[in-house]
Amino acid sequence: MATNRTFTMIKPDGVENGHIGGILNMITEGGFRIVSMKLTQLTVADAQKFYAVHSERPFFGELVEFMTRGPIVAAILEKDNAVEDFRALIGATNPADAAEGTIRKKYATSIGENAVHGSDSDENAAIEGAFHFAGREQF
Ligand code: GDP
Repeated sequence: MATNRTFTMIKPDGVENGHIGGILNMITEGGFRIVSMKLTQLTVADAQKFYAVHSERPFFGELVEFMTRGPIVAAILEKDNAVEDFRALIGATNPADAAEGTIRKKYATSIGENAVHGSDSDENAAIEGAFHFAGREQF
């Protein structure tokens, strides 16, 4: 059964471009409750670990450099069917393919700099959330 939590990051491009408020508004309007949230910055080691599944891909170095170049907003979100519904709200990885009304359609600039992360499974949502937040920071 699907759990009701997912994990998101507003990526460095979204923060740099002044879209924290706009993206959080779409998230809450989309019916997600904020369980935990903070402004933080990934180290190179954090980003390499977070995206380890892509370590053999040609864009891995670019991805790590991008994800560590400035602050991000990390958050745990709650909603029924959270992982799947949040992937629908953010839209396709490449904003050129993202549907109207999605966060990436509105705020992403390229396939690499695509404004937001959303966990791709319940298992990864739990791992990613626990990486950033202690139990007492989850409301
Ligand atoms: P997601 O689950 O939609 O975020 O997509 P993936 O898991 O496939 O990729 C993880 C992240 O790697 C994406 O969100 C992008 O930031 C980045 N990425 C994916 N494909 C490319 C690419 O072709 N070039 C670059 N520079 N970054 C990419």
